[in-house]
Amino acid sequence: MIPAAPAPLHPAPSHAASPRWQQLWRDAVRDPRELLAMLGLDADGLGMSDEAAAQFPLRVPHGFVARMRHGDPHDPLLRQVLPLDAEMRPMPGFTLDAVGDGAAKAGHGIIRKYRGRALLIATGSCAIHCRYCFRRYFPYAEETAAAAGWREAVAAIGADASIDEVILSGGDPWSLATPKLAELTDALAAIPHLKRLRVHTRLPVVLPERVDDALVAWLASLPWPVTIVLHANHANEFDAHVDAALDRLRATGAMLLNQAVLLRGVNDSVDALTALSERGHAAGVLPYYLHQLDRVQGAAHFEVPDDTALRLHRELAARVSGYLVPRLVREVAGDTGKRPL
Ligand SMILES: *Cc1c(COP(=O)(O)O)cnc(C)c1O
Ligand code: SF4
Repeated sequence: MIPAAPAPLHPAPSHAASPRWQQLWRDAVRDPRELLAMLGLDADGLGMSDEAAAQFPLRVPHGFVARMRHGDPHDPLLRQVLPLDAEMRPMPGFTLDAVGDGAAKAGHGIIRKYRGRALLIATGSCAIHCRYCFRRYFPYAEETAAAAGWREAVAAIGADASIDEVILSGGDPWSLATPKLAELTDALAAIPHLKRLRVHTRLPVVLPERVDDALVAWLASLPWPVTIVLHANHANEFDAHVDAALDRLRATGAMLLNQAVLLRGVNDSVDALTALSERGHAAGVLPYYLHQLDRVQGAAHFEVPDDTALRLHRELAARVSGYLVPRLVREVAGDTGKRPL
């Protein structure tokens, strides 16, 4: 989900034979002024910050920019990626390790916070940089499972029979090349106590080209039921390309869920939340979690107060089918699960 600025981010290969998605990845927009020019916006008066961009660089694929509204500085997709002055204002309570991942780490790239589940920080790279990201300051460079050649992660999972589900997270695990993913799952396939595989990824939404033949073939070959937890915060993040990618994922038998973060100025209205659930459902995705923002430094301007969050959630529940209502949760450092609000 979130890449740390100082890490040597994407190992995007530069040879000609690389898959198309990797080329699109490399071509992502990285200059805030270029992004604004593409949208017909003037940088003056938007509160844009070069300092924030230097700390956590802008990154957004062209296909995602194409879903932003031209000429609208309040566009909900733009707000998720544009570096702002507001990020540089220190706020009490907003810290560097907001969810206690530093403390929960049990081995290279593994977080064991929840019973039965091992969360693997596969890589720190992401195709998009979301300004509110809770892993914004996570020291990925030393701690990704892929960087350790998967060996330590696989050994730790193999040694603990209480783990029946492996969750690939990050960063975005699908920013790794498919053969690298296959290397991991080949090793995991030898562990008898694993029953489920889960992938937390934003890539099918932000760069749907990632769902290519190789990825689909890999998914279809896996020996476990697979759940893919996507991350979309606004209905406008879906388009025909995303729909097609999600169709292909579902055709492998994978279950598709979505997690969203409640974000001021992005989706903090009952209309926006309704549209998100309904648009996701139209694409074959059920809502899973609606997260209260993790209180990470630089994200305070996205925070929605708890009473507002609860009211929005209640209004959503009154409006849509029960299965279109995500669980409203907050992560609390040291807890053994997400805490319902
Ligand atoms: C959210 C989360 C999980 C998975 O929790 P579920 O409630 O099963 O979705 C596992 N590990 C970490 C570190 C998490 O943040
Ligand atoms: S894709 Fe996920 S991990 Fe990456 S920056 Fe966005 S929220 Fe964070």
